Amino acid sequence: MSARPAPLWLFADQLGPHIHSSDKNIDRDIVLIESAAALHRRAGHRQKAHLLLSGMRHLADELGDRARYVRGVGYRDVLQELPGPVAVHEPTSRAAHDFVHRLHEEGLVSEILPNPSFALSRDEFAQWAGEHSTFRMEAFYRRQRTRFDVLMDGDQPAGGTWNYDHENREPPPKQRTLGVDDPWWPEEDAIDDAVRADLDSMDVPWSGVDGPRLFAVTADEAGHALRTFIDHRLATFGPYEDAIMADDWTMSHSLLSVPLNLSLLDPLDVVHAAEQAAREDQVSLASAEGFIRQILGWREYVWHLYWHFESDYVTNNRLDATAPLPEWFRDLDADAVTARCLSDALSGVRNRGWVHHIPRLMVLGSHALQRGYDPRELTAWFTANFVDGYEWVMPVNVVGMSQHADGGLMATKPYTSGGAYINKMSNHCGDCEFDPKKRLGDDACPFTAGYWSFTHKHQDRLARNNRTRRQVSNMNRLNDLEAVLEQERERERF
Ligand SMILES: Cc1cc2nc3c(=O)[nH]c(=O)nc-3n(C[C@H](O)[C@H](O)[C@H](O)COP(=O)(O)OP(=O)(O)OC[C@H]3O[C@@H](n4cnc5c(N)ncnc54)[C@H](O)[C@@H]3O)c2cc1C
Ligand code: SF4
Repeated sequence: MSARPAPLWLFADQLGPHIHSSDKNIDRDIVLIESAAALHRRAGHRQKAHLLLSGMRHLADELGDRARYVRGVGYRDVLQELPGPVAVHEPTSRAAHDFVHRLHEEGLVSEILPNPSFALSRDEFAQWAGEHSTFRMEAFYRRQRTRFDVLMDGDQPAGGTWNYDHENREPPPKQRTLGVDDPWWPEEDAIDDAVRADLDSMDVPWSGVDGPRLFAVTADEAGHALRTFIDHRLATFGPYEDAIMADDWTMSHSLLSVPLNLSLLDPLDVVHAAEQAAREDQVSLASAEGFIRQILGWREYVWHLYWHFESDYVTNNRLDATAPLPEWFRDLDADAVTARCLSDALSGVRNRGWVHHIPRLMVLGSHALQRGYDPRELTAWFTANFVDGYEWVMPVNVVGMSQHADGGLMATKPYTSGGAYINKMSNHCGDCEFDPKKRLGDDACPFTAGYWSFTHKHQDRLARNNRTRRQVSNMNRLNDLEAVLEQERERERF
């Protein structure tokens, strides 16, 4: 008779059946540790703490006698009390990675299994990356499509093209909401009630406010959320994925980042569901491709580059941005903000720890870039305040994509725009006290004026880049530039 395998210790972001009930793990008991020290250390959005605890407790409940759920101060203290060492899957942050390796040396962890939450293994990425000196997502994404045979007809992309971005950039329609079916919403239960009561009693400085649970925390819930998205919402995902609507915070987005990042869903299952919908003509190829690009492309790319870049990638600050985050931004004080687009994004973060991709990039990120906020502080802000925020997802998204602080390793140019583009892609400006067309005066849009002051500050760098050279010549044609710069230096009202 073979010996019983070591129990498997699961982190809070490793909760899916493809992990705890994989062939390798099905005979293992499961250990889940609720660490008070970790909760205090990573005090972020209140609703994020709720999702993590709710997810772990629901899994313990579901697994019954197979699971041992322990509440303790620190992970090590709890592991020391167990009868023997545990196996663990590679965690998702460098700090946790180093920690489990130390536990391995100490004998508290017997085996470190590969990370189970992404389609491509780290070894395979390393082989691919070895051939590249700069990184462009498109090359990686095409490789992923081929490697996993997704939306492929033989060795050619289905439909004859890899990329449908040109069909996926519609401005918002005229009506106030997109008018698609609602996403799947969870129903809270007694476990959520207990989590809420426990969080209330903890002396932790959470950010944001409490609110109803909005995201899936069990595999069953995640399956419903995925199915609802594929059947009712994916068709409109593509065309409007770059738009913002003031009265429709979900639009056609999937709301799957939380269950994906808790590893409740296998990313390939998600991708296959979208592919099947396109193959069966339920949705256009453009919508399915646009969505698959997010999961098989961006999500995997961001994960692998987190490990590929050295740990000091997060200290990159090539635009010398050193401004501290203002108090109203740090405190998610949306009511202190006049700019509709910015206030709406901040209130979304405060009220639910989530806004979709475009407010993250085109509003919050662009504002921070224009105002020169310290990228490291900004990275910590995103990690703490978003319910889907984890260490691994931030460096590339914030330091690279949104702040260009890596000098262009990730993106060919800084991502920022004036109010005209926000006006085109959102319906915020009509209700705003600022005027997107104005760069000077009391009602000058902070994004329009901020765009020119950003261009002025970085003109040497921008003039050397083919993609931004015109921006500098346009700036040089402004007859009121000095006044705009003076105004922005003094700006207090956003
Ligand atoms: C500044 C900034 C910060 C971000 N912070 C996070 C974060 O903390 N956690 C997070 O999961 N995503 C983050 N993203 C990526 C993206 O904005 C979110 O994944 C997405 O908005 C989540 O909503 P959704 O599930 O409805 O996504 P959808 O729009 O429906 O997209 C589908 C899925 O694609 C994946 N995805 C798409 N783009 C990215 C990306 N750039 N990086 C990683 N995954 C991606 C997500 O898993 C997402 O669920 C960030 C992007 C920016 C620009
Ligand atoms: S006018 Fe400017 S600040 Fe106001 S919503 Fe439009 S882009 Fe935002």
